[in-house]
Amino acid sequence: MVLNSKAPEGPLAEKWDKHKFNVKLVNPANKRKYDVIVVGTGLAGAAAAASLAELGYNVKAFTYHDSPRRAHSIAAQGGINAAKNYQNDGDSVFRLFYDTIKGGDYRAREANVYRLAQVSVNIIDQCVAQGVPFAREYGGLLANRSFGGAQVSRTFYARGQTGQQLLLGAYSALSRQIAYGKVKMYTRSEMLDVVVIDEEVNGKLEKRARGIVTRNLITGEVQTHAAHAVVLATGGYGNVFYLSTNAMYCNVTAPWRAHKKGAYFANPCFTQIHPTCIPVSGDYQSKLTLMSESLRNDGRVWVPATKEIAERLRKGEITATDIKEEDRDYFLERKYPAFGNLVPRDVASRNAKQMCDEGRGVGSTGLAVYLDFADVIKRTSAEAVSQKYGNLFEMYEKITDENPYKLPMRIYPAVHYTMGGLWVDYNLQTTIPGLYATGECNFSDHGANRLGASALMQGLADGYFVIPYTIGDQLAQTKPTPVTTDHPAFAEAKAGVQARTEQLLSINGNKTPDEFHKALGHIMWEYCGMARNAEGLKYAKAEIQKIKKEFWTNVKVVGSGEEMNQALEKAGRVADFIELGELMVDDALDRNESCGGHFREEYATEDGEAMRRDDEYAYVAAWEYMGENQPERLNKEELVFENVKLTQRSYK
Ligand SMILES: Cc1cc2nc3c(=O)[nH]c(=O)nc-3n(C[C@H](O)[C@H](O)[C@H](O)COP(=O)(O)OP(=O)(O)OC[C@H]3O[C@@H](n4cnc5c(N)ncnc54)[C@H](O)[C@@H]3O)c2cc1C
Repeated sequence: MVLNSKAPEGPLAEKWDKHKFNVKLVNPANKRKYDVIVVGTGLAGAAAAASLAELGYNVKAFTYHDSPRRAHSIAAQGGINAAKNYQNDGDSVFRLFYDTIKGGDYRAREANVYRLAQVSVNIIDQCVAQGVPFAREYGGLLANRSFGGAQVSRTFYARGQTGQQLLLGAYSALSRQIAYGKVKMYTRSEMLDVVVIDEEVNGKLEKRARGIVTRNLITGEVQTHAAHAVVLATGGYGNVFYLSTNAMYCNVTAPWRAHKKGAYFANPCFTQIHPTCIPVSGDYQSKLTLMSESLRNDGRVWVPATKEIAERLRKGEITATDIKEEDRDYFLERKYPAFGNLVPRDVASRNAKQMCDEGRGVGSTGLAVYLDFADVIKRTSAEAVSQKYGNLFEMYEKITDENPYKLPMRIYPAVHYTMGGLWVDYNLQTTIPGLYATGECNFSDHGANRLGASALMQGLADGYFVIPYTIGDQLAQTKPTPVTTDHPAFAEAKAGVQARTEQLLSINGNKTPDEFHKALGHIMWEYCGMARNAEGLKYAKAEIQKIKKEFWTNVKVVGSGEEMNQALEKAGRVADFIELGELMVDDALDRNESCGGHFREEYATEDGEAMRRDDEYAYVAAWEYMGENQPERLNKEELVFENVKLTQRSYK
């Protein structure tokens, strides 16, 4: 299939306005004749469901949580970017666009990223109107702080709980529509398939997404739901690595099942490793905790200057505060004087790994570096620091039993975000007409590396300001006749879901789904994690295939399908993770270059920076499912840059 991004022609700054004028409109009286399914009610999904219902569409919203308020978006701590330029420090829409394109190592589509920067300013107004309690300056203006990869302060925040407060805003907008009866909310419902039917369009048969199959997680009932369009807003798949900062429930099932029905999966290997997480502490850990990037505004990252000092630290002979200033290496400040501790995440993570690989890591495992607040506490006060980051410091102390006001935090990179996802065009439509993807679930705006505070911006941009326009274009061309689940494709998809459930329950092997997940996560982290090479990736592929084979003969799922059964839920998700893992490895093997979060050891500059190969790899890799156990087909969307010059990223 030829991938048509549908990015409008014309000057960058005019594309979105022009597009909004050119897309077809559904007249207000007709909107109530269209049903739209939104799967996922995190920031992207809740914003989309509320906005579409506000426009007049009938929305059915689904989440596997017991309330939209539980979505993983609630975990977001640091903030949300917007080009408001309240600080007068030189920000602009173009600068936010430029930072995002550059930060993503020139692997994102210009038109989408510019639109994101444009609507960023509307998001803040919308959220303030909803009552989101952003931090304010003494004069009443909203406050900003800095995040990595930018030299301006453009990050809006609500202490260390920005995601929670934004989600409460989106949830109240959604609740209003639920109360009006315009949104029908289905909680504890897991989407397990997309229903795609062949429909006659202008005399030709075309595929269209017309519904979904869900399983009620309390009763086990499998149901089908029909609509004129389906929007997936189901978040990211970082948990393929088992250990990550994502909520334990996050998974790839919804986009993966859509992928198997014809939606291309783009850049699956682009994973973000966040530099500031609490290090792994033992074999039985199931979750990692993020220390927000906002801490790098004031915290200084360092390791001991020599291996010998690091060794003494690891043995517990000395502590961090015993180490003299001249025996410390503030390696980010030394190597990147222009951005210092605020280099983007991929750069900060790689450097931390490099320090640990050199034997200068700290903590009992040697897999940690310091994030030190002594200077800012001396310069201001512990109280001032607590006002900005108090809840993060508390969280750190509860987990590590160390007081970060007195001792530097120990941090290490961990899997955090997935830039890959379902391929979408400028309208956020996947390669299945009528199926859309928004938020972290799509691949669209962050290229090979997402800048901090840009995920919330994208989720809300997609939900509040993009999909409400672009979905109309498709609906206006769809007959407003009622949709039902009578088409045989619904019964077929439902039977498929039931058969898979029965299969999982019937294997009755010896290993829990969790054991398979952990084994997969280990392979993914070791061979497709912070650093990758061809040999390791080939090994990983073979190992994942073994895991898959064993899973389908030896998994043990206790209980039945007609009840709440978390082992069954988990097994289905792990099965999808295993297949995704293999595709991630294929994608990483195909991309013979380093860019952003994808660091191929064979492609590094002399000083260890990522070596891009723009002549050959300036494309989006969009993978097409070809059938069970068949290699996937690679389709390429060539990226065209008309407004930025592709340069070696430098933060020096
Ligand atoms: C610890 C942490 C801190 C972060 N901090 C920041 C930050 O400060 N700033 C920033 O910009 N970004 C941050 N991020 C990233 C950001 O939080 C996420 O990218 C973003 O919230 C994702 O929003 P979403 O709406 O796309 O998905 P989610 O919030 O993950 O929502 C997914 C929704 O889909 C539903 N769902 C999923 N699958 C199914 C299914 N099969 N059936 C039914 N429902 C389903 C879930 O129930 C949920 O409602 C952070 C991430 C982490 C892990």
